[in-house]
Amino acid sequence: MQAILVERIGNFRVADLPTPTLAPSEVLVRVSVTGLCRTDLKIVRNGHRDLVLPRVPGEEVVGVVEAIGPAVSRVRTGQRVYLYPGTSCGVCPACLRNAGNLCRSMQIMGFHRDGGFAEYVATPEASVIVLPDKLTDDTAIFAEPLSCCLNALERAALRPNDTVGVWGAGPAGLLLRRAAESQGAQTWTVEPDDARRNRVNGHLTPPAEGCDIAVVAVGNLDAYRQALGALRPRGCLVLFSGLAPELSCQPIDLNHLHYLEQRLAGAYGCTYSHSVTAIELLASGKLRVDDLVSHRLPLNDLDTGLDIVAQRAGMKVLLYP
Ligand SMILES: [Zn+2]
Repeated sequence: MQAILVERIGNFRVADLPTPTLAPSEVLVRVSVTGLCRTDLKIVRNGHRDLVLPRVPGEEVVGVVEAIGPAVSRVRTGQRVYLYPGTSCGVCPACLRNAGNLCRSMQIMGFHRDGGFAEYVATPEASVIVLPDKLTDDTAIFAEPLSCCLNALERAALRPNDTVGVWGAGPAGLLLRRAAESQGAQTWTVEPDDARRNRVNGHLTPPAEGCDIAVVAVGNLDAYRQALGALRPRGCLVLFSGLAPELSCQPIDLNHLHYLEQRLAGAYGCTYSHSVTAIELLASGKLRVDDLVSHRLPLNDLDTGLDIVAQRAGMKVLLYP
């Protein structure tokens, strides 16, 4: 099969690899579409904390079940499926708190095992979510980024009528707003780029009204400073986007949090149940994503896709093997 293979950071090649063989509880999926995000840019060009090489990247996958291992009971060949990218142990402290995304032995498709930048991918049956007929492949692929947004809002304990400020008007920033609005929140966006800001009636600096929840969806220190300053009393700052390692240690005024009863909440990835919720939300038609796809490219044109993501020249880039 044709696949994208990363053997060292900063480089990849289109390789001819054997089709994956299946463990008894695994499912072989023929990839229909795979989504590109900034994490893939990190993986291919800069490296990532969780990446183990050599690797076929790709953690956003929708496809059709081609074959099943002998111990598979819930999934049948021919079904259209979305793949939750993580595999957690189920017994560690994080797993016991329903935070499988923080499992100490988490295995992520595209990081620890081969992912969806290929014609076929093998995955544990436990990570498969069967898609409803009315949900298209190109809509279902948004389940991964949307799940991460749902986790972020859950970490912040969003309540209806909260005001949510989002930093960044890329695909993740837009999904965050739509997810918050689907839960009854008011939202606004801060975005420096003119085209992206105008598209969402965004702001250059936070509006004076402030926000109850600030979500930073850009890896930018100034955005974090602005977001802290915009928080209302009892507000929550969600650390949704990581910073470059040299920027991650910053002084913070703890008295400010003390006097205003404010909270900080980390948010990293999503759980299987967030993905189930995301699929239901997308299938309900209450959260639209069709206007977020800017580019559809063949898989072997990955470099073009990575340039688009790096230059913020589009919105969501989809790849087809
Ligand atoms: Zn675990």
